[in-house]
Amino acid sequence: MSAMPAENRPHQATGIVDAPNPERKRVVIVGGGFAGIAAAHALRHADVELVLIDRRNHHIFQPLLYQVATAVLSPAEIAAPIRQLELKQRNLNVLLAEVTSIDVASRTVDASSPGAGIRKVSFDYLVVATGMRPSYFGHDEFARYAPGLKSLGDAETIRAKILGAFELAETTEDEGERARQMTFVLVGAGPTGVELAASLAQMVQVTLRGNFRRIDPAKASIVLLDAGKRVLPTFAESLSRRVTRRLTKLGVKVLTGVKVETVDEEGVIAGGNRIPSATVIWTAGVVAAPVPKMLGTKTDRAGRALVGPLLNVVDAPGVFVVGDAASVMQDGHPVPGVAQAAIQEGRYVGRLIAKELKGRKVKRPFSYFDKGNMAVVGKNYAVLERGRLRTSGFLTWLVWAFVHVLSLPQLQNRLRVQHQWVWSYFTGQRSSRLIPEPPRTPGADAR
Ligand SMILES: Cc1cc2nc3c(=O)[nH]c(=O)nc-3n(C[C@H](O)[C@H](O)[C@H](O)COP(=O)(O)OP(=O)(O)OC[C@H]3O[C@@H](n4cnc5c(N)ncnc54)[C@H](O)[C@@H]3O)c2cc1C
Repeated sequence: MSAMPAENRPHQATGIVDAPNPERKRVVIVGGGFAGIAAAHALRHADVELVLIDRRNHHIFQPLLYQVATAVLSPAEIAAPIRQLELKQRNLNVLLAEVTSIDVASRTVDASSPGAGIRKVSFDYLVVATGMRPSYFGHDEFARYAPGLKSLGDAETIRAKILGAFELAETTEDEGERARQMTFVLVGAGPTGVELAASLAQMVQVTLRGNFRRIDPAKASIVLLDAGKRVLPTFAESLSRRVTRRLTKLGVKVLTGVKVETVDEEGVIAGGNRIPSATVIWTAGVVAAPVPKMLGTKTDRAGRALVGPLLNVVDAPGVFVVGDAASVMQDGHPVPGVAQAAIQEGRYVGRLIAKELKGRKVKRPFSYFDKGNMAVVGKNYAVLERGRLRTSGFLTWLVWAFVHVLSLPQLQNRLRVQHQWVWSYFTGQRSSRLIPEPPRTPGADAR
């Protein structure tokens, strides 16, 4: 053992996360999404033992998941292994495990690792950054037929369903079944539903053109449904109208004010009408992952922890919730569940802990700086809202592309995505069109 005082010793991860470290405070971060990674990064120079727990080994750039689902990009292009992302951070231990319970009183979390069972990880500080998952509004049985889009697995499932549907439409002799295979229903007209619908429309019109002998993919029907009055409800109404016009021009049927009553093997029943469809995709709602509830603190209807102005859990010193898992109010409005908010919250808490460790008390509350809201509607068209600024069209699309490439987690992701986009832009082709498993025969299990 070195005789050097703890503060002068080089950062070294212990590799043992169960036992408390008497020499150094331990910060446990649960979740390696935007918020968790930002918190870890903000603590990179702090004299702490940092443990980042995630049930997945990778960080996902979720804003481009829809491009994996529609075969533009492959999973590795929008994701990065968490260990590789924070390779140079010597005070960081990454633990592949799922947090199954938290005991705030004894300051431990239970983390279940594949092969190692459940281990207790003690903490001095805890940062919960576990994000959201799809919500079926009390109808979890819909999930079997209508996958949500949250993980790389979801995106691959959706891609396989879409591509498989065209294969089945090509081979079936039954006209009704052919029409069902060539009908795609997206439930939820928020940014994900809109982006997915537009990308799918361009795929059927351009990428798949001439690929089949018996069917014409351009005749596929793409229906975007929402119970609300308009698409993109978080944007200004004028932008919603422009987006609806754009979607219609691309051949998407937009049905707003229509509630989905049932999703089953045959398709959906919406507003009292059945729409036969072999591919239903759920982009309607989200609910917090269960971890904030484990803190025993108050949560909102979506399961997000109601946090204090320092993003702290009230009555639990040293415990914070950030990103989508937190319900944060600013000037009477909720801070939106977007990547920028998650990054700013994670960074804020990381810096707060680093200051506290140096004996400085932080009193300045978290303040969200809104850099604007964007959505892309197929090739050459995006909308942007920032304060009173509202723009749409080709230039906005260029800004969207630039911002997204720059925000990707690693240089290799940026280079690969740029390469794919340039190829796809000029040829109309999409490089990720493989179906790993043969499509299932209609009537067999839906997923
Ligand atoms: C399809 C889609 C498109 C989007 N598009 C945009 C966009 O264009 N622009 C934008 O700003 N935002 C967009 N968002 C929202 C944005 O991605 C989120 O706001 C952001 O990811 C929130 O970051 P987070 O760190 O809070 O959670 P996440 O990024 O979701 O990360 C949560 C992490 O916690 C881990 N985790 C969860 N539970 C546990 C557990 N029990 N144990 C261990 N680990 C756990 C998960 O594996 C995950 O890695 C989109 C989201 C989706 C799903």
